[in-house]
Amino acid sequence: MAKQGEQVCVVKGWQEGPVIDESTLKDDLTRHFYYTLGRDKVGESQHYLYHALALTIRDRLVARCRETNQQIKQDKRRKTAYLSLEFLMGRALGNAVLNLDLDEQVSAALQEYCTSVETIEDAEHDAGLGNGGLGRLAACFLDSCASLALPVVGYGLRYEYGMFNQSIKDGNQIEQPDNWLREGHPWELSAPEHAKRVKFGGYVQSYTDKYAREHRQWISSQDVLAVPYDVPVPGYKNNIVNTLRLWKSEATDEFNLTEFNAGSYSEAVAQKNLAEQITMVLYPNDSSENGKELRLRQQYFLSSASIQDIVDQWVSQHGENFTDFADYHVFQLNDTHPSIAVAELMRILIDDYELDWDDAWQITTKTMAYTNHTLLPEALEKWSVSLFAKLLPRILEIVFEINARFLAQVAQQWPGDVEKQRALSLIEESDEPQIRMAYLAIVGSYSVNGVAALHTELLKAGLFKEFYELWPNKFNNKTNGVTPRRWLAHCNVSLSELISEKIGKDWVKEFSKISDLRRFYDDKKFHGQWQNAKRENKQRLVDLVKARCDVEFDVSMMFDVQVKRIHEYKRQLLNILHVIHLYDRIRRGDTQGIVPRCVLLGGKAAPGYYMAKKIIKLINNVAEVINKDPLAAPYLRVAFLPNYNVTAMETICPATDLSEQVSTAGKEASGTGNMKFMMNGALTIGTLDGANIEIRDAVGADNFFLFGAQAHEIDDIKSRYNPEHIIAQNSDLNNVMQLLQSGHFNLFEPCLFEDITNSIKSPHDPWLTAHDFESYVAAQKEVDKAYADQTYWTQMSILNTAASGMFSSDRTISQYSEDIWHLEPLNISETDLTTTTSHATNSLD
Ligand SMILES: *Cc1c(COP(=O)(O)O)cnc(C)c1O
Repeated sequence: MAKQGEQVCVVKGWQEGPVIDESTLKDDLTRHFYYTLGRDKVGESQHYLYHALALTIRDRLVARCRETNQQIKQDKRRKTAYLSLEFLMGRALGNAVLNLDLDEQVSAALQEYCTSVETIEDAEHDAGLGNGGLGRLAACFLDSCASLALPVVGYGLRYEYGMFNQSIKDGNQIEQPDNWLREGHPWELSAPEHAKRVKFGGYVQSYTDKYAREHRQWISSQDVLAVPYDVPVPGYKNNIVNTLRLWKSEATDEFNLTEFNAGSYSEAVAQKNLAEQITMVLYPNDSSENGKELRLRQQYFLSSASIQDIVDQWVSQHGENFTDFADYHVFQLNDTHPSIAVAELMRILIDDYELDWDDAWQITTKTMAYTNHTLLPEALEKWSVSLFAKLLPRILEIVFEINARFLAQVAQQWPGDVEKQRALSLIEESDEPQIRMAYLAIVGSYSVNGVAALHTELLKAGLFKEFYELWPNKFNNKTNGVTPRRWLAHCNVSLSELISEKIGKDWVKEFSKISDLRRFYDDKKFHGQWQNAKRENKQRLVDLVKARCDVEFDVSMMFDVQVKRIHEYKRQLLNILHVIHLYDRIRRGDTQGIVPRCVLLGGKAAPGYYMAKKIIKLINNVAEVINKDPLAAPYLRVAFLPNYNVTAMETICPATDLSEQVSTAGKEASGTGNMKFMMNGALTIGTLDGANIEIRDAVGADNFFLFGAQAHEIDDIKSRYNPEHIIAQNSDLNNVMQLLQSGHFNLFEPCLFEDITNSIKSPHDPWLTAHDFESYVAAQKEVDKAYADQTYWTQMSILNTAASGMFSSDRTISQYSEDIWHLEPLNISETDLTTTTSHATNSLD
């Protein structure tokens, strides 16, 4: 995209012939720009320059990536395959520059082109291959694994279309396809020589081998090709570059040929589409299952291709002897999405390598580990047996066999208890029997973990209680984390420089050192510097909000932010009720003690999630009314930022004063947005839910704004819940409801928000919005009081950053490695690298 006032910059030396000296980054950049991409002018678009820079940096990653893979192979190391349907990577350029320590070289090179990294990086599309927290967690984990030098390979899908782009029209969400590959993806290297075949359909038959052994054979299947695209994952200044292997689905040639020979050329080519559909689009549902056949195809496609890949590598190195296989492999399943891998590994071992059941089961249950991400019933995946029978007939047989053997075990533990059998069966019996994927994952794994302390306790006491009784040692907690490289060092340069000036630079690698900041919490000069850094970051957000929402934020006001997927359990509604309450106070002239604030909300709603979309519309309508009212302007401004994504968060979290983490207690498994905000010095207003509890423990109750019902109180509250009564008793809430119901925010759209007001008033409201309103408003008053004393606020802000050490995903990954994976770190020195060349090739192994 051409920028205004931009001039064309022709770099001297290009006309003088090819640049062959590759010794400096600048020369490589020019070579890629001039030869690889065939360009000679910058100006119309920064795209080609970005592309050339990405290739230049990729060259430097490739040598390290090859070395990393060699070392894993040579030393016969134990490694982990992290299987995830989602990797919400965001942009790669800035992160690679940081991790490879190329900042100065890149800046110098770009000066020749009259530009800077900050400008160039805007040409990069986010790799939005995920919905939200779960996918971003996978991305943070990859960064931490590489930075801790652990041999971990990510396996995912190369969706042609990632998370949809959101725009707002008349206050409503509009979804647009995210064609992120349109301009090419310079980071990836395809490796078609390692393509795998994945079976679908067909049927199963028995055959007897020459030793009179019976086998099952999956035949007449319609195979789809899985072609790997490798994305390098650089560790922080340690020469390690791990791999994220993303599978793209393609038609097999034979597939087409059969039809072609039968004379139906066009039909054969059309079939290609069916195969390619599998990785065409990411399902945009966060925390709710979808149930579509194509989604099951995606899950099996990822699981099968990834397991084949690992098994093929094993066989090529060790032959068909699987005795030691489990000593060298772990498959970490990111939620139940890839849990079919349990049955797939069994199938490969039994059908392809003729292991007997018990040996295959030993291997499977010593290599699979499962992470649970949610307690929400609507997110628990089930697939109908009939769909399995049609799509994956051999896998269904294996699931049935796993279940039969498991139920025998249940019968031993609870003799004669038919109810237990029914409750624990992998098959939920009903008119349309369903396979419970979480149960398959638990039965097939040696480790089951939750993602925050409360979440794991709730799993053990509730959803998975019987499994916990059966196998207490399988269950463990791994509280989530976020990478301090992207979420502080890269996204908040002004604060990072200040921190490094005070405590040195080691915190980027050893984030527990961030606690050294505590020494300065009372240092007046430091307070000023801390506030200046925040102000700079706020100005960047002011510019973004102005550009995207046409709303004027003001750096002198408090920035109150809630950005995350829109979901009823996350209670954006409670936030907006508070906004309406503030507006009501302003209108009534009750402005005593109100601290001026700018409230920012953002997030995508699943396209089929009616209430979430209504909530977006409500936020936008409320914002419109408030922002137009001159009475409100000095106190309150509201904006909904369209298309919340990783890149937006990199501008948002450094600028935030107050982080809204207000989910109904017991519903948010962990949250990771809460951690990004804390690292960047925001204070949290939140419920005792997910990792909020651990955040509050770490920073101290005095530095956290707590409100709301607790998880253990919820059932009791629900049993006698009467929101209409609460509304009648609470004049603040009553005023808010009156404003909503009188159509104040929908003058020309009658009844628009009836479903919302009714949900608040319903005695069956599972989110208890009315219940928590009063304590939320009280906590917000405490926020105002605290913010009014800037010294006090700044102290708390420093303490939050200083206490965020344990929320680094480095800590999380160390625990995964220590307790579940048992990996040894790699070690690559500079001299290891000089023996390899630094040219891009098509294969890294
Ligand atoms: C961190 C992050 C999330 C997760 O946010 P929560 O508040 O934990 O739900 C979702 N989306 C993006 C883009 C993120 O960066």
